[in-house]
Amino acid sequence: MSCIEQKTNPAAANSERRHDYNPFEAMAPRAPLKTPAERRNGRHVKANDIRPQGVYLPNNNILAPHMQSPEYVQLSTAAAITLGIMSGRMYGCECTRCLNLLLTYPEGCRANCAYCGLARHREADRDYADRNFIRVDWPAVPMAEIIDIVAENPAQSPFHRMCISMITHPRSEEDTFTVLKQWTERIDPDAIPVSILSNPTTMTREDVQRTRDLGADIFTVALDAATPEVFDRTRGKGVQSPHKWSKYWEILEDARDIFGSQKFGAHIIVGMGETEYEVLHLVQELVDLGGHSHMFCFFPEQGSLMDHLPATPRDQWRRVQLARYLIDYRGVRVDQMRFDDLGRVKSYGIAAAELSDVIDEGIAFRTSGCPGKFRTDISACDRPYGDSPPSDIASYPFPPQKKDMKKIRRQLDIPVRVE
Ligand code: SF4
Repeated sequence: MSCIEQKTNPAAANSERRHDYNPFEAMAPRAPLKTPAERRNGRHVKANDIRPQGVYLPNNNILAPHMQSPEYVQLSTAAAITLGIMSGRMYGCECTRCLNLLLTYPEGCRANCAYCGLARHREADRDYADRNFIRVDWPAVPMAEIIDIVAENPAQSPFHRMCISMITHPRSEEDTFTVLKQWTERIDPDAIPVSILSNPTTMTREDVQRTRDLGADIFTVALDAATPEVFDRTRGKGVQSPHKWSKYWEILEDARDIFGSQKFGAHIIVGMGETEYEVLHLVQELVDLGGHSHMFCFFPEQGSLMDHLPATPRDQWRRVQLARYLIDYRGVRVDQMRFDDLGRVKSYGIAAAELSDVIDEGIAFRTSGCPGKFRTDISACDRPYGDSPPSDIASYPFPPQKKDMKKIRRQLDIPVRVE
């Protein structure tokens, strides 16, 4: 397991402390420091200009080579293990069902999101290809090599889905098209469907259409923040980052028009200062539009501008996970639920016995994301330990077992009061 676990840091220790929710006032990022000129824009990587030799494993005590998309992409440690290009084991899972790819450039992402390990301010102390992201390393691999491996037998592949994650970079759109085209030319998208995790800031409606025309199945927007205030503080002006809430919604609505019902969605991180009421209203809004929410539990990513803050308390996370599942897949509406004056879920709006059945099924507590081949409410994108350590799992990348369910019920403080 240690193969994919980030080293413990003080913030992770903080997360062990028991709070009931993360209030807005407590979740302010620290201000980014100025990057020395010689480290900006990947200048030294380009100056060194070391030629890549196949797979690049991060933090391997060698200078980061000059790699860039579309020839190179980074992929999650779980995907690299599943693909067989890295050795290692993951607690509770034999493989991941989603091949998560990340576009890569020496300049890295040009945005500065406060919770993100790829953020621009990190160029001061860590090369683009050595940055941790959602708690794990992302090896860089030639795209052709990945396609060669998967194309051998797509129907028998462990992967139920492939996902291209864009970053904020001037080449991001063109290279997304190229990677998508290379994939669909060799691998039938019906055998392994493709999702796009978009970065709206540099995108147009035509770009969204192009991904659809090239064979993408689902289009998602990494909204991440649940309210305009949290968005601005963590991804906009608050941290000298270029993103705007309105632009993210514009592209989300384009995705709804172009991809259609059930084929678009938004990523949301829970616990960055929004209330449970606010995030669940957003979940309802997405469902009413015809889409889905894919949720992450906030974790203080090492090296990020929020690495000093507490992870989302499990109480808050479990309540939101359960309520979100009911809204997304069981037809319950947010207005049937009840909230206290701090915006915390007090009742879920369905009968106790029905709620108990949903809890015991365990799916509500698994990682959420684009569907795989098992069921529409079971995500292919299982992101093992992307939002928590295995010792205190937030999103289960495997079906929760009996002992996990006991823990989840404790965290939910169930039996809950139901109407
Ligand atoms: S745009 Fe995405 S990859 Fe870039 S810093 Fe923000 S969250 Fe990270």
